[in-house]
Amino acid sequence: MLIVMKFGGTSVGSAERIAEAARLAVDAAGKGHRVVVVTSAMSKVTDLLVDAAHTASRGKWDPAVRQQLLERHRQAVETLCAGNAADRDQVIAQIETQLDRFEKLCFGLSMVHELTPRLLDAISGTGELLAAPLVAAAIRAAGRPSSPVDATEVIVTTEQFGGAEPLPEPTAAKAAARLHPLIERGEIPVVTGFIGATADGVLTTLGRGGSDYSASILGAALDAGEVWIWTDVNGVMTANPSEVADARSMAEISYSEASELAYYGAKVLHYKTILPAFRKRIPVRILNSFNPAHPGTRVSVEGDTSTPGVKAVTSIRKVSLIAISGTGMQGIPGIVAKAFDVVAEQQANVLMISQASSENNICFVISSSEAPRVVRALRTALEVELLRGHIEEIADQAVAVVAAVGDRMRGTPGIAATVFGALGSSGINVIAISQGSSERNISLVVGEDHAAEAVRALHRAFHLDRAPVPVG
Ligand code: ASP
Ligand code: MG
Repeated sequence: MLIVMKFGGTSVGSAERIAEAARLAVDAAGKGHRVVVVTSAMSKVTDLLVDAAHTASRGKWDPAVRQQLLERHRQAVETLCAGNAADRDQVIAQIETQLDRFEKLCFGLSMVHELTPRLLDAISGTGELLAAPLVAAAIRAAGRPSSPVDATEVIVTTEQFGGAEPLPEPTAAKAAARLHPLIERGEIPVVTGFIGATADGVLTTLGRGGSDYSASILGAALDAGEVWIWTDVNGVMTANPSEVADARSMAEISYSEASELAYYGAKVLHYKTILPAFRKRIPVRILNSFNPAHPGTRVSVEGDTSTPGVKAVTSIRKVSLIAISGTGMQGIPGIVAKAFDVVAEQQANVLMISQASSENNICFVISSSEAPRVVRALRTALEVELLRGHIEEIADQAVAVVAAVGDRMRGTPGIAATVFGALGSSGINVIAISQGSSERNISLVVGEDHAAEAVRALHRAFHLDRAPVPVG
């Protein structure tokens, strides 16, 4: 089987971690799999590059940044290529070339003082270009031929710098042309995550955290058997383990559960990441490079069909509930449309909506950072309705959204009763509720300071600390 394996920043954060990543790739190859590796930048490197770009755009270019990046990568190379001076020198030369390019970009930026999204991509994408030669060297040291591959030669994207989208057809063609010959030769190619290029060859990035997306895009482009995401946790958990002590890793979930969980703040997989793999029905495994013996979580079309009801509980913080209320709103058409026009104009992302059938109140949840702006814009747009008294109040309140997620909540009666019973007996007030008609999640708005307790109460009520008992 062809496996696309992605290693995140902490999984390639030091020479030791890179050696372990290489071992994991070589192990899979030893079991007869064909392997393509996708690597992130070493941990914290992308942040450093982004900071350097912003500093340079204010006219300050600090050569110490280059030195710092050189030292970090050079030290890793010395360890990884110990005993192979020729390989070491070659990798250091590759790193110097990338750093030269980075320095020129920052220096130019410090003269022109204008940081365009395109230039920011060129700079922030350097971390992966620095990491790939290291990972390839480690794989060679572990006994398999390997070479770094610049994803600008493989992943073709739109021109949305800072958050480009892949173009599947040209990507499939380029990926096959560039990678198949390497794979056929028995190599383990190491592709830079996070970056791609426009049809004209201009470097783009897929958005922060985009290396998972790269792996899924390449998995789809190469028709891989599986995509493995090596990270630093034991797969997708039933709740955030820092909040719920007995949270458990789930062996198998569906793409839709994974995307619900990602949407509701579980940090393991970005929902976009799943799409390319999902479209081709390629299973994605989330594995822990710090605990490779753990089976992690497999994300597939069917998921775990034997588990009914709620599978996981998650929460979104730093959100605000915007409520538009007034007894005069009843039967007056257009207020909802006006309100959501404003929200769209402000480019605020709505996480949840609820309206009581009395129509005296509509409320929705958006990120708290957007709330003041949206409330101001709503008060302006609905000024007439406010003056006439149709609307009495437009208010915002800092809240949290807690969501219970599971494919097989659908058609399982009694779930809402359990949810409200659990919250009621923990003394937690529910401010608003919404259930999507997919019945894959129930979302509740609670006070910010009740969020952790609400998550724990639901986790307990659905016995998520215990491995599920299969039923039919
Ligand atoms: N290095 C990039 C970032 O930190 C991409 C990634 O790690 O997935 O955002
Ligand atoms: Mg990362």
